[in-house]
Amino acid sequence: MGLSLFPGTLNVRLSQPVVISADFVLERPTCVEYEDIKLQRCIAGGLPALILRTSTQEQGNSHPLDVLEIMAGSKLRETLNLNDGDPIVVEANLTPLGNVMSSCACGCGKQTAGGSFVPGHDQKLRTRTEERVGGVVALAKLVDSVEQLARGQLSNADFEAHARRLFTVS
Ligand SMILES: [Zn+2]
Repeated sequence: MGLSLFPGTLNVRLSQPVVISADFVLERPTCVEYEDIKLQRCIAGGLPALILRTSTQEQGNSHPLDVLEIMAGSKLRETLNLNDGDPIVVEANLTPLGNVMSSCACGCGKQTAGGSFVPGHDQKLRTRTEERVGGVVALAKLVDSVEQLARGQLSNADFEAHARRLFTVS
């Protein structure tokens, strides 16, 4: 965007949690290898700026989602003469979190912060699914069987026999 950035962010607290619409995503940049950084253009206090949000924050493990971290070409706190608690106008296309929440894909009934899972529940689903068929090896064999069935390499009867062995009701 032709803007050299001042290192450091201004944290702005909103009245409600929001999801940003990233204009750029830095995937696992070398400076912070454990997370992605999403950037969205905005106007902060009349100045061109960027909203910075990490994947860690989106998963609910850092700043709450009602906080925007804003970077600009200068130290906004000084340029705009801001003190803690001062209001600032930020112009950006943001979506209230309540509009994007969905039920966790693991089936627990909890609401996610925009992703498919409550943090950690993808692993829970993986473990539970393995346990239902007797472990990861059995799960892999089941997927093999489904694939062979789909490709016509396994008869319906053989597939059914495999399925019944896994879920025998005794
Ligand atoms: Zn869940």
